[in-house]
Amino acid sequence: MSTANLTIDLNALADNWAKLNAMSEGETAAVVKANGYGLGAPSVGRVLAKAGVRTFFVAVAEEGAALRAALGPAPTINVFSGHMHGDTSIIRDAALVPMINSVDQMLRHVEALPGAAFGLQLDSGMNRLGMEPAEWSALRDIALAQNPTLIMSHLACADEPDHPMNAQQLRSFIEMTDGLDVPRSLAATGGILMGEDYHFDMTRPGVGLYGGMPFGAAKPVVSLDVPIIQSRDVAVGETVGYANAWIAKRPSVVATISAGYADGLIRAIGNGATLVANAKSLPIIGRVSMDLITVDITDLGANVTSLRLLGSDQSVDELAAYAGTIGYEILTSLGNRYSRTYVE
Ligand SMILES: *Cc1c(COP(=O)(O)O)cnc(C)c1O
Repeated sequence: MSTANLTIDLNALADNWAKLNAMSEGETAAVVKANGYGLGAPSVGRVLAKAGVRTFFVAVAEEGAALRAALGPAPTINVFSGHMHGDTSIIRDAALVPMINSVDQMLRHVEALPGAAFGLQLDSGMNRLGMEPAEWSALRDIALAQNPTLIMSHLACADEPDHPMNAQQLRSFIEMTDGLDVPRSLAATGGILMGEDYHFDMTRPGVGLYGGMPFGAAKPVVSLDVPIIQSRDVAVGETVGYANAWIAKRPSVVATISAGYADGLIRAIGNGATLVANAKSLPIIGRVSMDLITVDITDLGANVTSLRLLGSDQSVDELAAYAGTIGYEILTSLGNRYSRTYVE
């Protein structure tokens, strides 16, 4: 078998939730959009439900339906994108709770599913989703009369705790919601770390659960082991891979491993990422190909069958930094070809 293996430590995931829960005032939900940040929403969801999560968030209704099928009727499943045209039957059949983003969505929801649960998403300054203060003032009394389950908003700069945008959004959220008898939610992972002013009644961590920054105290959840398909000796002056991008300066041993940019290992990781075997750090050389990566294993001095790209030696965020991106993007790009092993 030549597919790489992604090992997902579900105990670490449950621990990360428990740690964030211990830091949160009020209820700690879990965000499992994008197939549980690439790790598999059904497995991730089941373990989190067992750990005590009662409320889940997904991005779109279809993700909510899949999660409902995996988790059964008990948990609340909230949908960030709200109630879109075509969502009605999914929302009804899977008992989803749309986070209503506009007057249009509000009308669609109460007309199509009168009496069905919903929450409200307000824009406190990010200008991405949710009602702006003026739209909210116009709709507010009508919306509140229908008993929303939650009022939420999202922070644009929570990964930079000192950014003035955080306090500005906090003030705006408070202005729009103070004195209302509805549970409130503002904080994702970064917001939890900023302290209880940001916590309100419910927090919504995502990336921290999966071991990503800004939750520095997170336990690593994923490791990725990539099999070596072939290795060869390369003489001084010989080249490796597309465009002859690497030239041997010493007699070298080159391993070709079975994963590439089609598996989410974008070409830019070649700017410094390493693989590990026997506690030796081994550089990627040449261009990352679609299905293959070449690695300089000259210093390995041992026979191994696979090399480790992600794990305690190189985190998702470190790999992301080599590629000039963020851990979120590496996680959610993790390949469909990998076999996934869940450790519990
Ligand atoms: C993705 C998302 C979250 C989770 O954010 P993390 O930074 O991954 O913790 C929470 N709320 C909203 C609205 C989101 O889009």
